[in-house]
Amino acid sequence: MRYSAFSIFRNALSGNLTWKSQWRKPEPKPHYDVIIVGGGGHGLAAAYYLAKEFGIRNVAVLEKGYLGSGNVGRNTTIVRSNYMLAGNEPFYEFSMKLWEGLEQELNYNVMLSQRGVIMLYHSDGQRDAYIRRGNAMWMEGVAAELIERDALKKMIPFLNYDNARYPILGGLLQRRAGTARHDAVAWGYARGADRHGVDVIEHCEVTAIRRDGGRVTGVETTRGFIGCGKLALAAAGNSSQVGQMADLKLPLESYVLQAFVTEGLKPCIDHVIVYGGGHFYISQSDKGGLVFGGAIDGYSSYAQRGNLATAEHVMEEGVSMIPGLSRVRVLRSWAGIMDMSMDGSPIVDRTPIDNLYVNAGWCYGGFKATPASGYCFAHLIARNDAHPVARPFRLDRFARGYAIDEAGVGPQPNLH
Ligand SMILES: Cc1cc2nc3c(=O)[nH]c(=O)nc-3n(C[C@H](O)[C@H](O)[C@H](O)COP(=O)(O)OP(=O)(O)OC[C@H]3O[C@@H](n4cnc5c(N)ncnc54)[C@H](O)[C@@H]3O)c2cc1C
Repeated sequence: MRYSAFSIFRNALSGNLTWKSQWRKPEPKPHYDVIIVGGGGHGLAAAYYLAKEFGIRNVAVLEKGYLGSGNVGRNTTIVRSNYMLAGNEPFYEFSMKLWEGLEQELNYNVMLSQRGVIMLYHSDGQRDAYIRRGNAMWMEGVAAELIERDALKKMIPFLNYDNARYPILGGLLQRRAGTARHDAVAWGYARGADRHGVDVIEHCEVTAIRRDGGRVTGVETTRGFIGCGKLALAAAGNSSQVGQMADLKLPLESYVLQAFVTEGLKPCIDHVIVYGGGHFYISQSDKGGLVFGGAIDGYSSYAQRGNLATAEHVMEEGVSMIPGLSRVRVLRSWAGIMDMSMDGSPIVDRTPIDNLYVNAGWCYGGFKATPASGYCFAHLIARNDAHPVARPFRLDRFARGYAIDEAGVGPQPNLH
C-alpha cells in the first residue's frame, strides 16, 4: 500500500479499518542468502538497500526484541554532517544527502526537520578549532557558518551568555542538519525492505553462530536453526557479544547513554543546540517536549537504564546553558547501549571469517549514519568490496595505525 493524501482520504471514508500492516510477520525459512543480525536502523537499512539497490532479496533480518527496541528508538534524533576528518566527512555527507531524499525514497514520513545544528564555543581556542572544522567541511563541499556572539544573541536569546561557568562566545552552524523521528526511520526501512521481499523477523534472538571450517553456515536462534550464505552483524550495543559467538574479538566496549524528555511546551527552541563547555545537546520535538542528553555513564554495562549521578550532571549542564530549563519538568528518561569503538569511529568491514561481515562501533553518533551505513553495508555484503566513502572504517585500522580519532583523545571511549 502506497501512502498518499489520497490513501488517507480513502481510508478515512472507510473508518480507517482498511489500513494494512506495515510489514508481514513471516515464519523463518530454513535458509537465506543473507542473514542480518539486528533489526535496528542499520540492519533494516542494509536489508532495504540489499534488496532494492543490489537485487539480493532472499534476506532475513533477525531481531531479538521488537523493531525500534534498540538504540534506533532511543536516541536524541540528531542528524548532521559537520565532521572534520577526511575519513568521516564524506561518509556523513553521503548520509545527509540520503536523509534529504529519504521520505520520497521510502514513501514514509520520517519527519526530517532541517532546523540547523549549532555547536557553541566558549573560548578563543575552541573558536579556532571550530573554524578549522568549518573549513574542513567546506573543503568537502558542505556549508558551515561561524556565528559570532552578537548574531547568536539575536538568533538564540535565551542562552546564558555571560554568567555561566563557560561564557558563550559564538557557535558553528550547519543549517542543513537537524532531527528526524527515530522510530519512524526503523519502521520506514522495515516497510521498504518488506515490500522488496525481505523477511523481517521479530522476537528471534541469535544465540550461536554455526561454522564449518572457515565459513559461517547459519545461526542458532530462539526459533530454531536458520542457514545462510552470508552473515552480517548489525547488533550495535550487543556487537561484542554477537561477535564472540564466532570467536571474533571486536575493539569495542559497551556503555550506557541516557536521554531525557520534558513536559510539552509551546515552541521555544528552534535549533538543535550543542553546549561546547561540556557534553549537552537539546532540541524540541514536534509534540513540544524538550529532548536532551549528555555524555555516556562512566562504566561499561549492558543495562538499558542509566544512573542518577549522570542524570544530575546532564541537567546541570543544561541549566548552566539555559537557566530557564530549571523550571521545566522532566517526564521521561531512558538509556541505550553504546558500541564505543577505540577511536570513536565505526567499523564497516569484512572479517577474518570469509562470509561474515560486521557493522558496529557507532558510539553515540550512529543514528545520523543510518542511511549511509545501510547503503555501504549492503554494498560490502553484495560485492565483497567496501563502498568508497566507508573504506576508512576498516576493522584492522587499529593494528595498522590508521585510527580515525575525530575528538583527538586516543583509545578513551568516555572522552569521544
Ligand atoms: C540516548 C541515546 C542518544 C543518542 N543520540 C544520537 C543522536 O542524537 N544522533 C545520532 O546520530 N546518534 C545517536 N545515538 C546513537 C544511535 O542511536 C546508535 O548509534 C544507532 O542507533 C545504532 O545503530 P542501530 O540503529 O542499528 O542500533 P539498534 O537499534 O540498537 O539495533 C541493534 C539491534 O540488534 C538487536 N540484537 C542485539 N543482539 C541480538 C541478537 N543476539 N539477536 C538478534 N538481535 C539482536 C538489538 O535488539 C537491536 O534492536 C544515541 C543513542 C542513545 C542510546
